[in-house]
Order: sequence, then structure tokens, then C-alpha cells
Amino acid sequence: MKPPPGLKLIDENGRRMDGRRPDELRKITMKAGVLKRADGSCYLEWGNNKVIAGVYGPREVHPRHDQDATQAIVRCRYSMSPFSVDDRKRPGPDRRSQEISKLLGEALSPVVLRQMFPRTAIDVFCEILEAEAGTRCAALTAASVALADAGIPMKGMVASVAAGKIDNTVVLDLRKEEDNFGDTDLPVAIIPKTGEIVLLQMDGHFTDDEFDVAMQYSIDACHQIHGMQKQALREKYLDAAVEKRMSEPAESEVML
Ligand code: UDP
Repeated sequence: MKPPPGLKLIDENGRRMDGRRPDELRKITMKAGVLKRADGSCYLEWGNNKVIAGVYGPREVHPRHDQDATQAIVRCRYSMSPFSVDDRKRPGPDRRSQEISKLLGEALSPVVLRQMFPRTAIDVFCEILEAEAGTRCAALTAASVALADAGIPMKGMVASVAAGKIDNTVVLDLRKEEDNFGDTDLPVAIIPKTGEIVLLQMDGHFTDDEFDVAMQYSIDACHQIHGMQKQALREKYLDAAVEKRMSEPAESEVML
């Protein structure tokens, strides 16, 4: 879709609407272990996206006929709150959320060491509280932290980001207007530890050279995001260690 007259997605200095350079991410913050009843969880803010991911399991599979006798199944549910977008979103699953749920499950399944938990299910819920483009990548990034927080053995975490093209310029991490009025959207997810690609979608067109630039931007950004994911997990365990120490009697008290 063409941008409305007067809306400039990128200026003559190569700066975007929010002042970012083409290869710059929006601000990302994440916190692990935010849900008491989940086995693992993560709250993530990415630009104006707000996402919460909860992991339950490994646990018994219902319905039983979905069981796999050799390994765990990973089930994902991506869901957008009615209040997450400007026009109220009708609650409940729709085609888009079913597609995204499926691809999140397919991206996370290969990282989980599923053979360790035959006949079980690992359920991952991603709730989008506020959406401003890039929610599937944000959900995948948060889900991955939640899985690690749940102590699920994995061969690595998954980090995800989208690249795209606006005004003939390849850019990283599209915001809403860039997603709506840009030419191309390329969500990517990798396992930074192994370099494997677990999600690659494309809406629009790239030349071969543009595609290479977009992939390079995305892969570099995924490594950056992976650093933030590890930091979120470290912080949770550091906080837990401090809390434990505070609740234990001081050494002098024990001696008395
Ligand atoms: N969006 C919306 N209503 C919807 C679905 C999407 O307003 O029912 C917005 C929302 O901000 C979302 C953006 O459109 O983040 C881009 O959606 P897309 O399908 O490209 O997925 P995403 O980029 O969020 O992974």
C-alpha cells in the first residue's frame, strides 16, 4: 500500500520516522519469570509491542490421540487481545492467529529436546497485549525465554526479527507504518547458537542483493536479541539468589 501524501517513511539522511538508522532495532526489554502459575514465562516490550508468554509442561496430552509415543509435542497459541490494536480485534482465533500459532510451534519444535519427554505436551501461550508490527517475532522471542525459564532442555534459544523494504531501502525491524506502507516484510528466526533458520516468511519482493542485506541485518540483530534473552534469564536467577539470601538467617544469627 502506498503511504498517504505527506508521510515520509525515510528522509534524505536515511533516518526513519522514529529517527532510527536502517539497521537499528526498536527498544527491547524483557523480564523472565513473571507468571506464578506458569512453569516458565516472559514479559517483553518491543517498541510499542507488549507481549506475555507462558509455558506449561511437559504435561499430559489432551486429547490423548495427539500423543506421540516417541517425543513431546510443542503446541503454541498466539492470541491478540481485543484491545491490542486501534480497531478492536474480535476475540478468539482467526485465520491469521491460527497461521502464526502454527509457525511459532514449527519454529520452536526443532529446538526443544523432545525425545526426553515422550507422550507429553509442552504448551506455549503468547498473548499480545499491544501490537505495533512485528508481533510474531516478539512472541517467538518471548516464548523462547519462557521455555528456558521453564527449564525445558533445548539445543539453544530462538531469536527473531523482521527486515523489510521501504522507499527502496532495506531496513530492520519494521514499525507499524513501515509494515503497512512499505514494500516488503521478511520475518526471520534463527537459533543463534547453531545458526539454523527456523522461520523465514516473505511478503513482497526483494532483489537478490536486497535479500542478502536483509538477511544480514536480521541475523546480526538476532545475535543482539539473543544477548538480551540471556540477560533476562540471568537477572531472574540473580534476583532469586538475592531473595533466597535475604530470607536465610545471617551467619552471625546461625552461630547464636
Ligand atoms: N494488526 C491489526 N489488526 C489485526 C492484525 C494486525 O491492527 O487484526 C496490526 C498489528 O499492529 C500488527 C501489524 O498489523 O502487529 C502487522 O501484522 P502482521 O500480520 O504483519 O504481523 P506481525 O508483523 O505483527 O507479526
